Parts: sequence; structure tokens; C-alpha cells
Amino acid sequence: MWDICIIGGGASAMAAAITAASENPGLSICVLEKKDALGKKLAATGNGKCNLTNAGCPNVRQTLEFFSSMGIVTRTDEQGRIYPYSQQARDVVYGMIRQMKALGIRTRTGCTAERISRVPGGFQIAFGGGEELSAKRVLLAAGGKAAPQFGTSGDGYTLAKQMGHTITRLSPVLTALDVKEDFRLLKGIRMKASVGLWKDETLISQEEGEVQFTAEGLSGICVFDLSRFVKFEPGEAFSEGIGRYGIRLDFLPHMDLRQVEAFLDERCGIPGLKAKELLLSILPSILAERLLSAAQINGDVQAAQVTEEKLRILAGLLKGWKLTLSGVKGWKTAQCTSGGVELSEIDERTMESRLAPGFYFAGEIIDYDGPCGGFNLQNAWETGIKAGKAMAASL
Ligand SMILES: Cc1cc2nc3c(=O)[nH]c(=O)nc-3n(C[C@H](O)[C@H](O)[C@H](O)COP(=O)(O)OP(=O)(O)OC[C@H]3O[C@@H](n4cnc5c(N)ncnc54)[C@H](O)[C@@H]3O)c2cc1C
Repeated sequence: MWDICIIGGGASAMAAAITAASENPGLSICVLEKKDALGKKLAATGNGKCNLTNAGCPNVRQTLEFFSSMGIVTRTDEQGRIYPYSQQARDVVYGMIRQMKALGIRTRTGCTAERISRVPGGFQIAFGGGEELSAKRVLLAAGGKAAPQFGTSGDGYTLAKQMGHTITRLSPVLTALDVKEDFRLLKGIRMKASVGLWKDETLISQEEGEVQFTAEGLSGICVFDLSRFVKFEPGEAFSEGIGRYGIRLDFLPHMDLRQVEAFLDERCGIPGLKAKELLLSILPSILAERLLSAAQINGDVQAAQVTEEKLRILAGLLKGWKLTLSGVKGWKTAQCTSGGVELSEIDERTMESRLAPGFYFAGEIIDYDGPCGGFNLQNAWETGIKAGKAMAASL
């Protein structure tokens, strides 16, 4: 019987294995990974640069010490996002695998855990091909459902349920949003704006940053962050709930509405300026045309001839172009899962199950999701380190 078996070979699993082996070097530890290599998702994080944590996370120091102990050096950008100094995610994966080997941790890739049950003194795990192994402690670190191309297709929830755990409502987050309006001509535009997510007539959350227009809607980090707040009532169908959400784009967040109105009035005084040039150097021309047409302004007349009323409408559109949500991009493109193993069923100091002593959780499988910026990997390291310490101390 193994001392510790870890299901999943991603970020949290590797952090837990390294911690447990470092704390208690005599332990026999095995890591089972479904894909043909460990850390495939980790290698793709942060556009291949791996935004591994954030200076604003309360336990960032522990994470940095953890990485520094295996020779991984980091750098912090102006927004507090922390990356390996080389900005190469594969260096983090390599460094962790190297450390695991040095600590004698056994890994088995191409191995999908399918069933888990209790046996005297521990647990039995059945994996593909009718094989089984048993372990005194088990850590379930199989991730969520986001980005299944990296092995995370939601198996972990099935295994957690086999141990009696509850799974809260799951949805893809940190993903692009689709809108009802026709965006085909706007595809490819990128520009800084403030983006508000509204539900009915209430502002839910607001972010500022670079917005990317896609053929179906909006993308970009600030939009990803808003996707975390698109939630449905219990029993509410997606098709009903989604239409209650809207986006308002503010293209001039540093000015209030009055200032934008005054600014447009002033521009109308520029000699010879055509109406279609009113937004010249403010918005990309295709987007400017779209807003001018929504304000029913004929681009070919002189700007000075545009009526006050139409200028007010244009100012309103610049400060809050209203769009209606039609969808949230699905699991394949999402970076994270909202929902997961019910938190009250886990002892958050040790990550041990309150329902099945000896059984632990770490990473995205638990009901936690954070914004972009390193918060989700921080959750993986933090919960992995806690579980690794607790498992090692319990043996
Ligand atoms: C494209 C992308 C970019 C991202 N960028 C960032 C970023 O820059 N910063 C950040 O903080 N977060 C980022 N994230 C989120 C972050 O990667 C995850 O939250 C984090 O990896 C979760 O860690 P984990 O250990 O829970 O699971 P994962 O790292 O997802 O690992 C789970 C592992 O379990 C394996 N597995 C699943 N089922 C089984 C089974 N039945 N048997 C055996 N093995 C199994 C999977 O193959 C997988 O390797 C990104 C996510 C994506 C998809």
C-alpha cells in the first residue's frame, strides 16, 4: 500500500507531492496523470508565460519561497502579476518535475483514475485496464472542467461524489462573452475601455482594460473577469437567464457624460470637420461608423450641422454602449471552473474531507474561482501545499 496517492498531475498535485515528500522524506508517493505528461495545462498558462501568482495574494510569500526552494526565480509586473523570470511556463513545469524526481516521487502518466473506494487502512483506486492500487492517503487534484483538451474533463467530480461529496453548480468562467448584436464587422478590433456587466438594471461588476471584439462578442482579460459574475438562479434555464445580462462599454472612462458632450460640441467647431470624422483618433473607424449610425448621424454632413440631440445620443453611446448577452463561451475556451466540491465539506486548514478522513482535495476541483492575474494558480499552490503538509504530518 502506498503512503500517498495523488490523482492528477497538474499544478496543485505537483505542489502537494513536493511538499509532502520534503516534509517527510521517507514516504512512498505516487502521482497518477491521465495525459502523457505532467503539467500540460500549466505549460499553457499565461499565454505560455505562466502568471503563477499575484503580489496581492495574502499568501504570496509562501508561494515564492516554495518556488525559490526549487530554483525558480520570478519577476513581478506593474499590475502585480508574478511570472517566472524567463516568462517561460515550461520552465516552471520542468523545475517541478525535476524536484519530484529528486525527491523520489513516482509518477504514472497515461493513467485515468476511474473509481475510488474505502478499504481497511486507506483507499483503493481503480484505473484504466482493470488495474488497481491502494494508498493510506489520497489527494484528489484532478482539476475542473475548463479546457478539457488538457485532461480536465470533470472526472474529479465523479470521484468526489463516490466519496459522498456534493458538487455545486458548475459553469465555465474566465472566458469570452457573446452578444446579440451583429459584431462580424467589428471582429479584430482591440481597444482600451471600461466594461460594465449589468443584470436587469443593476451594475454587477466593472473592469477596465483592453477589450477585444470577436465576430460573436467580446474577449480580453477584463471581459474574462466579468464572465465570473454571469450566474443563474437555481432552476433558471440558461436561455432565460442570459438575456437578463447586458454589457455597457464606456470608451472614455476618464471623462463624465457632461465632459464628453462638451468635448463633442467643441470638436464640431473644428473647421471643415465632417460628421464621420467626429470620432477620428478616438475610435477605430469601423467602430466609429457603427456608433454614428446608432446615433442616426449622417457621416457626410459637416460636423457643425449635427443637431444637439444627436450629439447627446452619441455622447451617451461613447459613455455606455449597451449590448445584450447571448452566451458565455464554453468549457473548451474557459480558463477556469466556477463551482465544485462544496467548501463546507472540506477542512480548509488541511484540505481534508470532513466526510472521508484520509481523503484530501486541492486545486480547481474545489468550489473556488478567482480573477485573471495569477489567483487561480495561487489557489492550486496554496491548497496543494496545505494538503501535502497535512498528509505528511498524518503518517
Ligand atoms: C489556457 C489557460 C491559461 C491559464 N492561465 C492561467 C494563469 O496564467 N494564471 C493562473 O493563475 N491561472 C491560469 N489558468 C488556470 C489554472 O491553470 C488552473 O486553475 C490550475 O491549473 C488548476 O490546477 P489544478 O491542479 O487544480 O488542475 P490542473 O492543473 O488542471 O490539473 C489537473 C490534472 O488532472 C488530470 N486528470 C483529470 N482527471 C484525471 C483522472 N481521472 N485520472 C488522472 N488524472 C486526471 C488532468 O489531466 C490534469 O493534468 C489558466 C487556465 C487555462 C486553461
